[in-house]
Amino acid sequence: MPYNGQTAGKGGHSDFVRNPDVQNFLAECDYLRQPSEAEAQEMASSFTPAPAGNPPRLPEYVVASDASKSDTPISDKLPSTQIGFIKVSHVLITMSDYAELIDPKTRFVDPFKAADLHRNAAPITYTLPGSNVRFQNAKSVKDGFRRAVFRQLSADKANGGANRLILSDTLLALNGGQISLGKSSAHDGLCPSCNAEHEFTFMPEVQQKSCPSCGEPVFVTDWLRLHEDVSDFGNNTSAMTRMMNAVEHLLLAALIQQVFDANPRALAKMAFIIDGPLAIFGQPAKLHARMMARIGEINARLQQLSLEPLLIVGLQKTGEVMDYVSLISRFLPNGVIRVLDDEYRNRYIKGNDAPSSNFGNETYYGQDFIFKTERGRIFNFAVPYPFISKNVQGSSARFAQLKADTSRYGSLIERACDLIRHFELDLYQSAIVPVALAHRHASISITPGGKVLDIITKTNLSRSGS
Ligand SMILES: [Zn+2]
Repeated sequence: MPYNGQTAGKGGHSDFVRNPDVQNFLAECDYLRQPSEAEAQEMASSFTPAPAGNPPRLPEYVVASDASKSDTPISDKLPSTQIGFIKVSHVLITMSDYAELIDPKTRFVDPFKAADLHRNAAPITYTLPGSNVRFQNAKSVKDGFRRAVFRQLSADKANGGANRLILSDTLLALNGGQISLGKSSAHDGLCPSCNAEHEFTFMPEVQQKSCPSCGEPVFVTDWLRLHEDVSDFGNNTSAMTRMMNAVEHLLLAALIQQVFDANPRALAKMAFIIDGPLAIFGQPAKLHARMMARIGEINARLQQLSLEPLLIVGLQKTGEVMDYVSLISRFLPNGVIRVLDDEYRNRYIKGNDAPSSNFGNETYYGQDFIFKTERGRIFNFAVPYPFISKNVQGSSARFAQLKADTSRYGSLIERACDLIRHFELDLYQSAIVPVALAHRHASISITPGGKVLDIITKTNLSRSGS
């Protein structure tokens, strides 16, 4: 995603929006509009002062991740024959190092120290067949895609380190050590290749089986249903996007689990920041409930140890909520926050007369907040729901109420605000330094060309020089 200020020039779209046919069509549509002065004042009045620790409650370590993907033709002569590539980068920032990185007076970033941080970053890559590529002689692109997903997710991506980083193991662990493509659900009960009904059950030591009907291999990773969007001749862009989304959250779960297994107390000193909402969309969406449950279990253990809940922050740079806040930002004083409860979201952002009873019921594991910092920058961030499941007191309607009750979040909201304040930089309207570093790492390709650090330093140079 491009950052604000890095996008290409606007325009282009305006010509056809002025077209009378388009104007007539728009007149029949509902969409997000600039609120009137009175409406905006009413919206703004429901914001409250943002909590702040005194002193700020900051972690000792921050892990930020960002993912990028590309679908690239394998040669100029074969534009429709593509290979997919997903790259997830993690940047670990030690707060004491960061203190040295930024001059507190000028907020100038030392480029050499920032480059050191980059040397600590670890990109993890996944290669997949794109359109018109059949992997391992599979009988279809889709079956080849399934094979490739399993091959990639069952590989140890720790690159010879002391730990193992195998996402199919993480997937099983999130599911209590066992995954069934059972007969109960219409989609899961079938062989993903021939659609014959069989029961496929997987465990850490058995992650692959053979379909009794067609003989095709069936994999534990088929549970993610990523292949369902793949066709023989269409492009696989949407499957790749779902894969990237699922992998980013699985990696988050894997890293958290590793720290937890080694020393749960260490988690209380860390914060994890992910680029995007705390949600998993499309075919693998059911993974969101496993993430929610695992975070809830970990928090229960941390509570036993008299420690604070795990701080995971999802930051959204774009999307409808950011569109919305850009409309109302000028009406908001600095240093305010609001929980984005369903009623507010439906009324002001979705414009929906028949809203769902629980926004994000099938996808979200974290709650969105709108936060305008004391310096006047605006953020849409999320922290995990403080519940182990969406069935609270026997009801999902009750959950929809309680997820917007800020008193349920303990210290999480205050700590998220402190973290964002600490890392906000003038350059990024809705991103913060760790995410910017991870983003740069994820988006640079084999050839050097990333300019983010240059931009960080240049912006601060010009500011301190003025
Ligand atoms: Zn089969």
